[in-house]
Amino acid sequence: MNHTKSEELFVKAKAIIPGGVNSPVRAFKSAGCNPIFIAKAAGSKIYDVDGNEYIDYVGSWGPMILGHCHPKVVEAIQKTAASGASFGAPTPLETELAEIVCEAYPNIEKVRMVSSGTEATMSAIRLARGYTGRDKILKFDGCYHGHADSLLVKAGSGLATFGVPTSPGVPADFAKYTLTANYNDLANVQELVAANKGEIACIILEAVAGNMGCVPPVKGFLQELRDLCTAEGIILIIDEVMTGFRVAYGGAQERFGVRGDLVCLGKIIGGGLPVGAFGGKREIMDSLSPEGGVYQAGTLSGNPLAMSAGIATLKLLQQEGFYQQLEEKAAYLEKGVQQVAGNSPIATCWQRVGGMFCTYFQEGPVNNFDAALASDTEAFGRYFRSMLDQGINLAPAQFEAGFISISHSKEDLDKTIAALEKALATV
Ligand SMILES: *Cc1c(COP(=O)(O)O)cnc(C)c1O
Repeated sequence: MNHTKSEELFVKAKAIIPGGVNSPVRAFKSAGCNPIFIAKAAGSKIYDVDGNEYIDYVGSWGPMILGHCHPKVVEAIQKTAASGASFGAPTPLETELAEIVCEAYPNIEKVRMVSSGTEATMSAIRLARGYTGRDKILKFDGCYHGHADSLLVKAGSGLATFGVPTSPGVPADFAKYTLTANYNDLANVQELVAANKGEIACIILEAVAGNMGCVPPVKGFLQELRDLCTAEGIILIIDEVMTGFRVAYGGAQERFGVRGDLVCLGKIIGGGLPVGAFGGKREIMDSLSPEGGVYQAGTLSGNPLAMSAGIATLKLLQQEGFYQQLEEKAAYLEKGVQQVAGNSPIATCWQRVGGMFCTYFQEGPVNNFDAALASDTEAFGRYFRSMLDQGINLAPAQFEAGFISISHSKEDLDKTIAALEKALATV
């Protein structure tokens, strides 16, 4: 496959954009090759600037659950753009999207729109701190909630009880307020809660962890966390930026029957435009400015173009049988992948929840971040490059989820399975 133009554009971009990209994973560093530059996309396919066609399982990292360029979404954006791109004043579109969100998530009584998932989690955490009057937060190793200071933290080594920054530029003093636990390990959470009694404002988690591949919650984990938070007066923040409207219309909370006090959304609710949202119990949300004292704001929050793309997308997801159909497609892919992988000597472990999945290069199962790290990332790189060369666009890193859209055809899935067979033979 010829990538001449992508290579040229990457050189040009690197000269003036750090790493040539506006978000690190796009640089393909952990895939061991250079990124492809995209020209356009339609349905399940994406096309690079050299004219190569790929079946796309990145889907803009989740938002494109309908496939690219759904005519109804494109029409909604165009129609709204003709009346003005942004006003910095309320519009009816914001209330319309808010109503759709509140209906989908019964525990969201009020919701505020922002422009990214990062903003949503950062604001939800501030709100939890403001509401409880507590400073500490607890997150899980391997869960990603955007790039705010207090979230770029991992557990300190050895006997250290404090968290330590994972990025230069995050003050060690900030990291002290972030506790980290092992995913799917309730005993670990209980220990941390006991050691910090009355000091933890919130526990934040991905109810299906999609930023260390695809790690479902073990049986009982979410409910036990819920009970612990209720007993200790801790706000449970369920980050559904990836899973919301993805693993079910009502997200992981609907799928697993456990509800957070606050919920973060993003990705799909913007239909491909920059949107995030956080919402929850009325009493907590009313602590936000201007009703309450917790400050949060945004010039482009509730942007009309983003609202209309989100509304058009979510309305299409409400169609009878949408999630059933998505599940069937994903299950078809799963069956084919497992058959091919089962016949290969390469150790792989496929994990999936609804329309999100990951192929780990190890025996598995993967229940937490430490387990995910046991994957053979070199083998992943060889597999990724082979798939790309065969016209299959996957997330360019082992610890990222793949996404299927409703526009993936049986032919697409069959091609993908055939490509996997070839790829595993070269890994
Ligand atoms: C993508 C993601 C975020 C961050 O969203 P951005 O829009 O990239 O800032 C937060 N949480 C989860 C679970 C995500 O998958």
